[in-house]
Amino acid sequence: MKATLELTKWIRPHILEMKGYRSARDTFNTTDQSVVLLDANEHPKPTPYNRYPDPYQRALRAQLADRYGLDPSWLMLGNGSDEVLDLIIRASCTPGKDRCLLLPPTYGMYQVLSKLNALETQEIPLDEHFQPKVDLILQESNSSTKILFLCSPNNPTGNLLDADKIEQLLNGFDGLVVIDEAYIDFTSETSWVNRLKEFDNLIVVQTLSKSYGLAGIRLGLCYANPELIEVLLKIKPPYNINSATQQIALERLQDAATFHEQLKMLIDQRDELANELAQLDWVKEVFPSNANFLLLRVDDAQERYQQALASGFVLRNRHGLPGCDQCLRISVGTKQENEALIKCLKTFR
Ligand SMILES: *Cc1c(COP(=O)(O)O)cnc(C)c1O
Repeated sequence: MKATLELTKWIRPHILEMKGYRSARDTFNTTDQSVVLLDANEHPKPTPYNRYPDPYQRALRAQLADRYGLDPSWLMLGNGSDEVLDLIIRASCTPGKDRCLLLPPTYGMYQVLSKLNALETQEIPLDEHFQPKVDLILQESNSSTKILFLCSPNNPTGNLLDADKIEQLLNGFDGLVVIDEAYIDFTSETSWVNRLKEFDNLIVVQTLSKSYGLAGIRLGLCYANPELIEVLLKIKPPYNINSATQQIALERLQDAATFHEQLKMLIDQRDELANELAQLDWVKEVFPSNANFLLLRVDDAQERYQQALASGFVLRNRHGLPGCDQCLRISVGTKQENEALIKCLKTFR
């Protein structure tokens, strides 16, 4: 493939130079049952899992890329999006030297993974509408600011980031812009994957953990320019997506009808739950949500958290995060769970 990106701006030099591991299934890949595979020290007994999985997840990637009319070379898969985020950071940022830019309140793993990789983080809180302060972000970043993490819809606030602000950041920020779309299916907005060909520095991360109900199989998705994807494929653990995960994901993706039905149920339940919560006198504000959870400001988050827990409902206390004073985050459950929750919350004094 002809190189067109200035990869040296985004990828650490030793990673551009190194060769990846050539696994047995990398060197020789076949579905031909008549071939005798004696190259990977596998157990010969033909059980469902005696063979190593496809290191490039060809069938699954073809399906997932096709949803956006893309070639599979625009996509890599990780053991959850957490692995994807870690690989992006390790590919781009030199420990002790480079920085990641975070916009709190947001998903905690950006901070944890940056710290794990011995990177400084710079935090520029979202504004009072939970939107990025574009001018400040661009002003504060320099050549060692390698990655800007955007989460849209944002966790824990639930709102989408303004598309025009994201576009200004994509155009103005020199490093990689990672847009985490873990909750994109709960919105009517289209994914930034559709705009990948316009922005070389754009990486879109998605997951099957939320809207697909498959948090347990650990499957994260990373869409980006093929030259960036090639680097990530080179440095990922060879067999990072196990056979069971590939199989289960493929099966789930076949059943679009169930997916859309369950998605609609969750969105309806979210809106219903938001209405009910807004009527409680100790709830000060229910923030609009484009996700499968609600952020609400209450009179005393710790007390309400404890009261709910005592009744058997585990909520998330987000008090302490910037802009989230006295805020709780509640995931949308089943209709029965949500009704039981509201019934319980109504008794709080
Ligand atoms: C839940 C969530 C994820 C999911 O991570 P996985 O490792 O794929 O389960 C990623 N990003 C955000 C913002 C999330 O809230």
